[in-house]
Amino acid sequence: MKQNISLEEAQEMLLANITLPEERQLPLIDALGKILSQDIVSQQNIPFFDRSPVDGYALLTSDTVTATSSQPVRLKVLEEIPAGYVAENKVTPGTTIKVMTGAPLPVGADVVVKYEEVDRQGDFVFLSKPLKFQENVVYAGEDVKQGEVVAKKGIVVSPALVGLLAGMGIASVPVYHPVKVGILSTGDELMSIGEALRPGKIYDSNRYTLQARCLALGLEPVMMGTVMDRKEQVADRIREGLKQADVFITTGGVSVGDYDVIQDALKEIDAEILFWKVDIKPGSPILAAMKDQKIIIGLSGNPVAALLTFDLLVVPLLKKMMGREKYLYSKIQGTMRDGFKKSSEKRRFLRARLMLEDGNTLVKLTGIQNNSALKSMMECNIFVDVPAGSGPLKPGDIVSAHVMGNIDYIDA
Ligand code: AMP
Ligand code: MG
Repeated sequence: MKQNISLEEAQEMLLANITLPEERQLPLIDALGKILSQDIVSQQNIPFFDRSPVDGYALLTSDTVTATSSQPVRLKVLEEIPAGYVAENKVTPGTTIKVMTGAPLPVGADVVVKYEEVDRQGDFVFLSKPLKFQENVVYAGEDVKQGEVVAKKGIVVSPALVGLLAGMGIASVPVYHPVKVGILSTGDELMSIGEALRPGKIYDSNRYTLQARCLALGLEPVMMGTVMDRKEQVADRIREGLKQADVFITTGGVSVGDYDVIQDALKEIDAEILFWKVDIKPGSPILAAMKDQKIIIGLSGNPVAALLTFDLLVVPLLKKMMGREKYLYSKIQGTMRDGFKKSSEKRRFLRARLMLEDGNTLVKLTGIQNNSALKSMMECNIFVDVPAGSGPLKPGDIVSAHVMGNIDYIDA
């Protein structure tokens, strides 16, 4: 078992040897939010045919070369084509066909002029200036070419992709099976919401935080409840959970206290301990183990430490397990808007929000940076990475940060 390793080493150990989930074909709308398991190659051009993007008249550019306001060109209107229909006639010199937005470009025509730019008189239109070749024509394949890869495997199926696939006539989509994540809270002090709190007890919030985080990521939480700090009980619950889950997460009981029983419980089930303690603050006492090719991770019980280390270390693992192409966090640099008084003997992660102010990327701390102050996580969209051995931070200091998965927008 390795001890006191760096975040990167811990991450590398967790990311090694992952097998991807099975694939399945889902109806288009059910695939929303799932991970694409195969590249999608278009079987045809989108649009399927050349069409008019405006209401107007389809004609030949060459017919308009001599058009002036004093000597307009006169063209005979052969027919009228709404969207969804095909012209019966061909456009030949001296003629035109009226087309509505979305109608196929009639054979022979190479340009469309808008209604408001012609003068209609009976069966004729008059043009008073030359047109540019291919103006107001959307050609087949302008959006998607036949044979083009429109979506790569490993991306999340988005509403736009659903629409694009529907436009291609695709009714079902290959996606990965969801990854099942076992979640167990440990601690004698924990009670369930809905119960009246007894003296000295607290509500088990980690279970909900992690469940919510998993659901938001498109993972399938397997809720294993709350268990007391007893080695046998914890071991039983993990054993039970591993029957259903692909990966197992516990919170609490990973420090060095008398009641920190996770390590013993893992030994009890013959799991191989991979590492214990990662050189970061908060949440350093992280325990990782392997049992029957399944990873078990014990996180600190402190609500902030639990969520921060889950996001920082476990989410990349889960994303890779889900089959996501991009599973590591992006990193950015920003300027501290506020100061941070404490020195950082250990590498420290601060909860903060990335904001744009007058074109500068500003880093605003999101509240008290204590281990248990979960409120600071609410607005947090970045974790500022403060290197070990740093002094206090001043406003204006440049810092680097991990952009977390829960970033949804950058304040403008
Ligand atoms: P531990 O990691 O077991 O030493 O717990 C550290 C701190 O987190 C203690 O103050 C616990 O009461 C608290 N804690 C542990 N588990 C949970 C939980 N599931 N929900 C909320 N707080 C917890
Ligand atoms: Mg405890």
